[in-house]
Amino acid sequence: MAPATYASINLNAINHNVLQVKKFAPDAKIMAVVKANAYGHGLKRIAAQIAGVNALAVARVDEGISLRNSGFEKEIVVLEGFVNQDELYELISYDLTLVIHNHHQLEILINCTRKGRVKAWLKFDTGMSRLGFDSEQIRLIFQQLQSISVIRQPPGIMTHLANADDLSHSGTHAQMKLFADQTLHIQTEKSIANSAGIIAWPDSISDWVRPGIMLYGVSPFSDRNGATLGLKTVMALNSRVIAVKQLKAGTAIGYGSTWVSDKSIKMGVIAIGYGDGYPRSAQSGTPVLVNGSRVPLIGRVSMDMITVDLSKLSDVQPGDPVTLWGEELPVEEIAQWANTIPYTLLCGITQRVDIVEI
Ligand SMILES: *Cc1c(COP(=O)(O)O)cnc(C)c1O
Repeated sequence: MAPATYASINLNAINHNVLQVKKFAPDAKIMAVVKANAYGHGLKRIAAQIAGVNALAVARVDEGISLRNSGFEKEIVVLEGFVNQDELYELISYDLTLVIHNHHQLEILINCTRKGRVKAWLKFDTGMSRLGFDSEQIRLIFQQLQSISVIRQPPGIMTHLANADDLSHSGTHAQMKLFADQTLHIQTEKSIANSAGIIAWPDSISDWVRPGIMLYGVSPFSDRNGATLGLKTVMALNSRVIAVKQLKAGTAIGYGSTWVSDKSIKMGVIAIGYGDGYPRSAQSGTPVLVNGSRVPLIGRVSMDMITVDLSKLSDVQPGDPVTLWGEELPVEEIAQWANTIPYTLLCGITQRVDIVEI
């Protein structure tokens, strides 16, 4: 039996998008970012499908272990690194690449008695002010790491851009300059660019690039969608109509009675809500595809249902197909209507939503 609400994942689109990364960054190695269950697309599924990348990157140790346990044999980078000795030892045992970003980790490494040679990146905070050593410390820390025998030498150096999605922001130039100045004489692999860097800041492309959102066919910029960047949509979120009803003028719809019809309308109820990850913040007017045509959301999003105005469509029946976002209805557009970013929508798909590979 077909599930009421499901996300379809177009696995071929992933590798098309990897090729797009290579068009922007032909000489760089690719660390494909698959944190947060591959941005909601399914970690193991994406890891099994993706081709032509040099490593995968996750945020946390447990994500790295589950990826390794699924049989993925290539390099896995754990972007947040470890917080205690147990986690460090797990990283070493599972041959996961470390990211070293603070003094606490350095202490643990200095006291590490494990043998082995684990790959590591040193994180340089050039302006995100989140993880990483600052510019006064970075060269000294790089030197200190040379004497830590458990680390394969030399560690790479990476930084993360805070404003690469904003083409007019001067902070990106400042971050790139600081990175270049401080690492100029350090001979090792370097990495700066996320998706927005890869697409819009050619100077941020160095030895390794770290695409995330663009692999899923989605744009990191608020003013253009993935298709305009040559990317192919990977996820579509689908459901179906479960009721169609004629309402009199003056009828209030849904919780809070926030939407009141000013004329007689034909309303449709669709089996999706915030319990599936459809954003509650989606405003009345948010487009929804019913039988392939755009109709507006009306009233509040509930846990299991939304309501739409079907007046302009003839002959809609319960069971008819609905798409909430996908190739024909970019998730970037839905994110704008919901006052959020596409990242939160993709990773916000809940357990209840079946995943169907196409
Ligand atoms: C999430 C993440 C990325 C990928 O960012 P996108 O904007 O999705 O391309 C790259 N690098 C780091 C350190 C990250 O945390």
